[in-house]
Amino acid sequence: MVDCIDGPGPQLKSITHLCNNCILLELNSQESAMWIRDAPNRNVFLEKLGGMAMIKDRQYSIVIPFLPITTELDSPDMLIQLPTMLHRMENENNIQTGSISCIRWIKDPAKCSPTQKVAHALTFITLPDTANCLLRDSFYWGLDRLCPYKDKREPVWCLKCQQTGHLAKDCKQMEDMCSLCALPHHTQGCTSLMVFCVNCQNDTHPSNNRQCPDFIRCCNMLHDCTPENRMPYFPTLEEWTQVELPPHPLDPIKWTRPPPNPFAAQGQLRQMTLGEAMNVCTHVPK
Ligand SMILES: [Zn+2]
Ligand SMILES: [Zn+2]
Ligand SMILES: [Zn+2]
Repeated sequence: MVDCIDGPGPQLKSITHLCNNCILLELNSQESAMWIRDAPNRNVFLEKLGGMAMIKDRQYSIVIPFLPITTELDSPDMLIQLPTMLHRMENENNIQTGSISCIRWIKDPAKCSPTQKVAHALTFITLPDTANCLLRDSFYWGLDRLCPYKDKREPVWCLKCQQTGHLAKDCKQMEDMCSLCALPHHTQGCTSLMVFCVNCQNDTHPSNNRQCPDFIRCCNMLHDCTPENRMPYFPTLEEWTQVELPPHPLDPIKWTRPPPNPFAAQGQLRQMTLGEAMNVCTHVPK
């Protein structure tokens, strides 16, 4: 790589072989990373490398929640429609053309309920600054203001035995275990009124509860290995992007019931203006 340009320049810091036959190159500085993004430099580097190598830039994935399901992300004529759709999205959000490289539904729309109006979409952004601006300033689409969040790494979860640490394809269990009651049947056919979590052996929540102390423990372990997971933005040289979220409490949140509505008990529950409501409040019996 040093041979690619004159003088002291971009250097490789590390090479990691990934399981999908790719290699991950870590460069020595931000400048080096910018250098290799430049098309002429990239071509020179690939020529020196030889073979059929390609460079795939890192993508910054964010989740856009509650996008109207009528948005044509996966139509049959997607190849014709999608660039136009992405271009419209970039225009509406005042971001550079080509900033959104791909957008897709997290759950197949064919599996959504017929009455479902909105769904979550996974969006791949080419630059961290653009992704951070969308995370900070929201994503505008039509007349909707949507609040995207970073697509973070989460502990793997087996949909067959409901335990964390492996995927269903690697599961050693013979039978499906219900994620609600932990009995040996498929979750969709569950008729049990009981809940049981197989991970923390507790009957206060089902196994797929994200507030489960065992799930939170696995998340915290993952955050310790991947500190960027705790950060709401993609860290760049901008200071505001380098903040961390406070760690999750180990204990699940204790839900409390709201106080009873005094008007409901007296049969006085009806719509009223604020002024009227203030008058009524003065007559509430102690
Ligand atoms: Zn399993
Ligand atoms: Zn069940
Ligand atoms: Zn649990």
